[in-house]
Amino acid sequence: MSKIRILSDALASQVAAGEVVERPAAVIRELMENSLDAGATNISVEVQRGGTAMIRITDDGVGMDREDALLCIERHATSKIRTKEDLAAIATFGFRGEALPSIASVSRFRLATRQQESLSGTEVEIMGGKLSGVKDHGGAVGTVIEVRSLFFNVPARRKFLRTEATEYAHIEQQFRTHAIANSHVTFTLVRDGGVAFHLPGTQETLERIRGLAGDELANRLIKVERMESQGISVWGFIGGPGLSRSSRQQQITFLNGRPIESQPINYGLREGFHTTLMKGQYPVTFLFLEMNAEAFDINVHPAKKEVRFHDGFAVRDTVAKAVRHALENANKLPEGRSASLRMITPAIVPPQQQSFALPSTVHSSSIAILRQLELEASSRPAPHPPGKPFDTKIDSPPQPLIENTPVYAPEKPTMPVFRIIGVLHRLYVLMENTDGLVLMDQHAAHERVNFEKMRKAMEQGGVPSQRLLMPLMLQTSPRDGDILKRHLDSLARLGIEAEPFGTNTFKIEALPTFLKTDDPLAWLDQVIEELQSLSSKSSSLRLGEDMIATTVCRHSVKANDKLSIPEIQALLEDLFACEMPYCCPHGRPTLIQMSIHELERKFGRQAP
Ligand code: ADP
Ligand code: MG
Repeated sequence: MSKIRILSDALASQVAAGEVVERPAAVIRELMENSLDAGATNISVEVQRGGTAMIRITDDGVGMDREDALLCIERHATSKIRTKEDLAAIATFGFRGEALPSIASVSRFRLATRQQESLSGTEVEIMGGKLSGVKDHGGAVGTVIEVRSLFFNVPARRKFLRTEATEYAHIEQQFRTHAIANSHVTFTLVRDGGVAFHLPGTQETLERIRGLAGDELANRLIKVERMESQGISVWGFIGGPGLSRSSRQQQITFLNGRPIESQPINYGLREGFHTTLMKGQYPVTFLFLEMNAEAFDINVHPAKKEVRFHDGFAVRDTVAKAVRHALENANKLPEGRSASLRMITPAIVPPQQQSFALPSTVHSSSIAILRQLELEASSRPAPHPPGKPFDTKIDSPPQPLIENTPVYAPEKPTMPVFRIIGVLHRLYVLMENTDGLVLMDQHAAHERVNFEKMRKAMEQGGVPSQRLLMPLMLQTSPRDGDILKRHLDSLARLGIEAEPFGTNTFKIEALPTFLKTDDPLAWLDQVIEELQSLSSKSSSLRLGEDMIATTVCRHSVKANDKLSIPEIQALLEDLFACEMPYCCPHGRPTLIQMSIHELERKFGRQAP
């Protein structure tokens, strides 16, 4: 007996549905794309219970005649391609003719549609893939598609659904991306009977972003002027210096209006943003690429998110250039905007074994010389064994290099002795010890000190926090709200007292005492991002540690604070009380030694 069977159409659709409709948000994506393909200028999305109970999309697009209304639920029925050549030059969202039959096969499905020229439209009902009724429809021009009880006949798939709030969050994400890419279209999102968004059509993409993301984010975006090169056009909006996230979630890119993910674009962004982002941080972008449909392949991914560019390098290059150009221009802004620029943090150099390297993003030219020296020095074996970078046994105190400069006299005899020379670039403390020159990155040192203090405090019951005179109101997306709610306890131990206050709003009553930031709400956003990216892979203590390291510490000192000599001494004292004084919590060095021997060699006083 032969084993191969041709699947029945209904079964084939259910199998395909597994690929195309993995969750309610995927239904939203497909239906919104169909409405956009149909030229709608008004699209309303209604969902109940995270889309699991009901999804209804109403548009004012071209609609379908009766024949098409029946045909569109057949597999591989599409009005969008007819020939192989069409496939090579797809300009529409859909083209597989797979979405509607797939969705209809796993739900109670209703489609009502009417074209401009016809007096009466068509209503079609399908139950789990079987046509159960066709009748006349007297509604407005356009199409309504209603999807009820999604996966009612596929229990395996139903099991994979997450909470309603999570499913809704994914829906909202789909809604947002389409709304951003199509600002000329009016969009409405109704969740369980309440209007979540109503976005009137606008010619200005930034207005649309504002409508979706709020003033706070919109005001911190900078414009990427359209750049055209090698047949690629790039424009959009990106987060200015200091605005970043710890996941790619707000790194949104579109190709010819379609939200996509692509490696060359990611590389281009990384290149363009280079040195303005900390390691592990991702930019906020709303970037639009436009190019000839023949220059890429969209047919790679069933959900049509991934793209294969014929010339990936050109894409990467153009994206990098456009972003760099925008950032450079933003840096030239007058004083008034400098508040946000202060937050620029140098990129992280991977921790080197001996940590004798200067960070790669030192700005002044005098440092460039030092860096050159350091590069040469690092090609030789390092003068100190790992783990013990400084000689702690001192026979006689160092002779002052400059008269009357203060000596750091440690209380514990095992600590190294330093003579403070001064501060370079408001960041690097120059010191002398018996070996020669010592440089301390005061920011990295502060981070280390605060990190260990906070970790200790956390282990002992909680980071000290400060009550706010005026509680802050934090607005979140439903998904972020969920995450926050789950972690209220850990946050309290980190000194953040948050309390749910109505839907998707939290009242922030206290913040960690260490925190020094001008923008606590933006900081809290980062904390949430951090929770999101960490919660899946960390235990709760690790989570706390990582949180402190990556977000709390980063804001525990402002860059370029001018320290007085007593403050430097206190910092050294604290630093050497740490378990790991020689690097910051991110692995950058806090101290660099340049020995007299090395200097003598550099100056040609000694044979190499
Ligand atoms: P595809 O979008 O890949 O063509 P779908 O299954 O999503 O496949 O849709 C099948 C066809 O149904 C489309 O090609 C289009 O002709 C028609 N259609 C679907 N939704 C709409 C809509 N909202 N308005 C008008 N026509 C639609
Ligand atoms: Mg489609």
